[in-house]
Amino acid sequence: AGTVVLAATPIGNVGDASARLMALLERADIVAAEDTRRLFDLARRLGVHVNGRVVAYHDHNERGKADGLLDQVEAGATVLVVSDAGMPTINDPGLAIVRRAIERGLPVTCAPGPSAVLDALALSGLPTDRFCYEGFLPRKHGDRMQHLRMLRAERRTIVFYETTHRIAEAMDDLLAAFGPDRPMALCRELTKDYEQIRRGTIGAIREGVIADPPRGEMVLVIGGATDEEAAEAAPEALGVDQLAALALDLAASE
Ligand code: SAM
Repeated sequence: AGTVVLAATPIGNVGDASARLMALLERADIVAAEDTRRLFDLARRLGVHVNGRVVAYHDHNERGKADGLLDQVEAGATVLVVSDAGMPTINDPGLAIVRRAIERGLPVTCAPGPSAVLDALALSGLPTDRFCYEGFLPRKHGDRMQHLRMLRAERRTIVFYETTHRIAEAMDDLLAAFGPDRPMALCRELTKDYEQIRRGTIGAIREGVIADPPRGEMVLVIGGATDEEAAEAAPEALGVDQLAALALDLAASE
């Protein structure tokens, strides 16, 4: 059999394309691309020629298309899966073909590369040893607040994707859910000429968003809850030992 290869593409700076990505673009028998025009644009900018067949593979057809592509893999083809930017499957198409390949016992591998999650996390200056990726926040205010409230006791660094037109509302809701003092970073236009990282507290970043609205693509990285914040948000989530330690701390500080 051939192989399914998920390949990351640049998230802004075309120089981040790996040598492996370029070789795969030239050699794959089939390229399944989220947007075929963007794929050809990338190939042109990289100066590579896509020799294989190019098919559209996006959120709306990925389940239906996966098996047909895997039939080709079974017959020996290399099928390259790319999204518009970054890592396939991370808020992008790709998961359906990975799942079906696993179910059918067909080989699947990855040519890794840029992804906004890790880029933002590393630049945030916040702890990276444990983090959780939350993708895009729900669109509706009520759903978003409910979701954020569930994260109040989260101790890991939290990474969200956000869009320009919702950033102001998102900052209001982050303030309401986590309070003004949590550290955060707003990472914008990563790897591009106008890359900018705004670091500070939720309160300060929110004021900055009002005074100077950020444009372009962005990732929000929020510091996890401290022990005290976690205890306040969800005392039921703490173990007996942690509760006892907190009680001792409190008694000592009084
Ligand atoms: N698969 C992509 C990845 O691995 O990062 C994510 C795709 S998702 C549909 C697009 C979102 O990723 C944007 O709305 C933004 O939140 C984030 N993003 C992508 N490129 C970015 C960049 N250069 N700078 C900041 N955020 C970016």
